[in-house]
Amino acid sequence: MIRRSFALPLSFIVVLAALPLSPTYAQIRRRPATRTTAPSVPAINENNIRAQLNFLASDALQGRGSGTGYERIAAEYIGSQFRQFGLEAGGDADAGGNKGFVQRVPMESAKFSGPPSFTVTSGGNTHKWEFGKDFLVSFLRAPHISGELQVMEPSAKPTKGAIVVLKFPENVDQRLRQETLQKVFAAQAAAAVVIETEANRKTREAGNVRLPNLPGRIAGEAKGEGFAVIALRKEALDTVLALPAGARAEFGGAVEQTDGGATWNAIGVLRGTDTDGEAIMLSAHLDHLGVNESLTGDKIFNGADDDASGCVAVLELARVLAAGKRPRRTIYFVCFGSEERGGFGARYFISNSPVPLEKIVADFNFEMLGRPDAKVPPGTLWLTGYERSTLGPELVKQGAALVADPHPDQNFFQRSDNYTLAQRGVIAHTVSSFGLHTDYHRVSDDVSKIDFPFMTRSINSLVKPIQWLSNTRFRPEWLPGQKPGS
Ligand SMILES: [Zn+2]
Repeated sequence: MIRRSFALPLSFIVVLAALPLSPTYAQIRRRPATRTTAPSVPAINENNIRAQLNFLASDALQGRGSGTGYERIAAEYIGSQFRQFGLEAGGDADAGGNKGFVQRVPMESAKFSGPPSFTVTSGGNTHKWEFGKDFLVSFLRAPHISGELQVMEPSAKPTKGAIVVLKFPENVDQRLRQETLQKVFAAQAAAAVVIETEANRKTREAGNVRLPNLPGRIAGEAKGEGFAVIALRKEALDTVLALPAGARAEFGGAVEQTDGGATWNAIGVLRGTDTDGEAIMLSAHLDHLGVNESLTGDKIFNGADDDASGCVAVLELARVLAAGKRPRRTIYFVCFGSEERGGFGARYFISNSPVPLEKIVADFNFEMLGRPDAKVPPGTLWLTGYERSTLGPELVKQGAALVADPHPDQNFFQRSDNYTLAQRGVIAHTVSSFGLHTDYHRVSDDVSKIDFPFMTRSINSLVKPIQWLSNTRFRPEWLPGQKPGS
């Protein structure tokens, strides 16, 4: 699960009161304490969950840092398990043409070779400011950004492609600042220019400013839309604000390419019997935040909940489904690399999809299932974007212990790999039970905090609904206006 950055605000109203209660949950509560019939053995095995999660979240894997050799070990381990379950290999072929279960995603990266500048041109006059001396950058997605200047009050509407200069009141509070920046980002403006904060000013005046980092990207991939937040010193901002309409601005500097390495996906396939080529996907992300050497004491971000728990859900579902009757629809079990660093594994997979995207009926992405969320009934999981498509409600009818995401203000639908797929039109939601615990993205997200019986029960509740989805002709759809980008 990625940190909230400039996620789009949700454009719909969630009616929590109207949530249907899962039939499975209701049945569990009605069940008498003593039973006369023999208890059925759960398909999902708690000991397997413990075994897999203990390995993935062990210190030996050093926090599975995105794009590191440890992430690769996690991918190889998951792929190796997929093979053991009898799945078909969905990864790269070796020199002999034999397919494996791991997919290498080549990455490239760049860095500034000198301080970038911010230049504004108006009526033949050019003003040029230098990074570190006149401004800092608090968010950056591309080495070069240009556009027409748009000076606006926080309440106005930003223009797509513009470099938006925000006219904040004196002593603007942090909340208005963040919300306005989110709005500018969501409107697909090219950049936001703001007055520097007191902290920015102190850092800048101290003079020990590091050049801004440029995000890595998938090798050969077309450059995505850039965005930057430029925090300008007061005198420079006053100059910009005084310019007549029609000024143009440019941010950028000289860059040099650096070795971007790679990230790793693990892919196993349970081939369906039908020839119409339909598929469903069960996914999670295998990377986490690695190690932070600047910490004292524990330095390893084990990511037991985020997202070893999701990988284990995919693994156990793969084992159980592969052991059952062959489904009609093909099932792809995919654990993505580099979710935490920008969703690169998912983006590469979907850009090189083994099936046409319109044939992917649904993706269930699993994130942070390791502890129950007190906000939902015991034993249930929640589905992000539940109210966006017909998938969640239909699975509830089939017995899934799923409810809507009880934290709509957190924008979780936009904060995992499901969103990468949803933006390409695939019905893709994240299954989770993250109750906003304070170990999120901390070194304390450890195996010791995992509730294994809860994980076992809740994943088990999804086996039959997923088996149903892999055999039915039902196709979930986006509800009107709920498809991302619609
Ligand atoms: Zn995360």
